[in-house]
Amino acid sequence: MIEELDPASPTGAAGRQAPALISVVVPCFNEEEVIEQTHQALVRVLSESGENFEIIFVDDGSTDQTLHLLKQLATRANGHAKVIALSRNFGHQFAASAGLDHASGDAVVLIDADLQDPPEVILEMIGRWREGFHVAYGRRTHRAAESRFKLITAKCFYRLLNYLSDTDIPPDTGDFRLMDRKVVAAVKAMPERDRFLRGMVSWVGFRQVAVPYQRQARAAGESKYPVRKMVKFALDGIFSFSTKPLRLATWLGVATSTLALLGICYAVVVRLFTDMWVSGWAFLVVAIFFMGGIQLLFLGVLGEYLSRVYQENKGRPLYLVAEKYGFDEGDQPGDDSEILGTSS
Ligand code: UDP
Ligand code: MG
Repeated sequence: MIEELDPASPTGAAGRQAPALISVVVPCFNEEEVIEQTHQALVRVLSESGENFEIIFVDDGSTDQTLHLLKQLATRANGHAKVIALSRNFGHQFAASAGLDHASGDAVVLIDADLQDPPEVILEMIGRWREGFHVAYGRRTHRAAESRFKLITAKCFYRLLNYLSDTDIPPDTGDFRLMDRKVVAAVKAMPERDRFLRGMVSWVGFRQVAVPYQRQARAAGESKYPVRKMVKFALDGIFSFSTKPLRLATWLGVATSTLALLGICYAVVVRLFTDMWVSGWAFLVVAIFFMGGIQLLFLGVLGEYLSRVYQENKGRPLYLVAEKYGFDEGDQPGDDSEILGTSS
């Protein structure tokens, strides 16, 4: 993914000298403890950048004081804050999508609310974008205070995903990244419900570059990603970026059928030409369980794809906006299109 730039090639922001508008999208779910600190850090860093900026906080149905605090930020002079409140908790990927849909910047940065992604890295990302890259994605070189379990499962997951999928998704990356307007437009044009944004951004192509950074411990509060959500996210990644599990069923079917055929030949030979015919109940039981297990497993795999077809087919909006604050066009949703999260 990392590439050197050909200086002669036409590129995103290269050569542009006037300050651009940078949108920073921050999905927030029950982040009352850090939100003020995050806002301050973002304003400080972005003021240093010399660019114009807006910070779009997306409240993903928080049940604590997050939305209340965000509303105050939106009214603060020179706070640069805009707020989108979703109608309920839709999940990080949908909240991020809502932010992308409402961002008007020449480049959009996606960052977590908990300061695990250091805001200072944004300056380097803007620098890379100014050089002409369309995507500058954060690559974690070190992850402070994350459990061994999370590190090991993440590593295995990205190995598996890259083996299964044709899209090259760089390991050790999260959603912390800067995207050029072109890339944002491309992602917005992808209406799928299985939103695995880091995969989608890899899929669109353009010029992408890694920006190494050290992932910090959460500034405050607890992770909003329990194991259950992590597993769902991992399955979304695999099933929306690969159909290889379906093919695996075919290959396993071929393998077991071949075995069965060999078994039949063996039985016929033993029955006709030898007197070693014994009843093998243990073998039978194992074979039955084995076949039953494989069939159920792949019924499950089929179900995963089928349920995704079903969900896509319903064509529901990705998210619903309850309220907006700090946007020019008025704070409350005006017409239907304002609340519906249909990308593009
Ligand atoms: N988040 C969200 N909706 C959710 C869960 C999380 O918007 O349902 C936000 C959360 O506020 C944070 C980001 O997504 O800004 C990453 O979540 P978290 O830090 O809990 O995940 P982790 O870093 O532990 O993977
Ligand atoms: Mg976090």
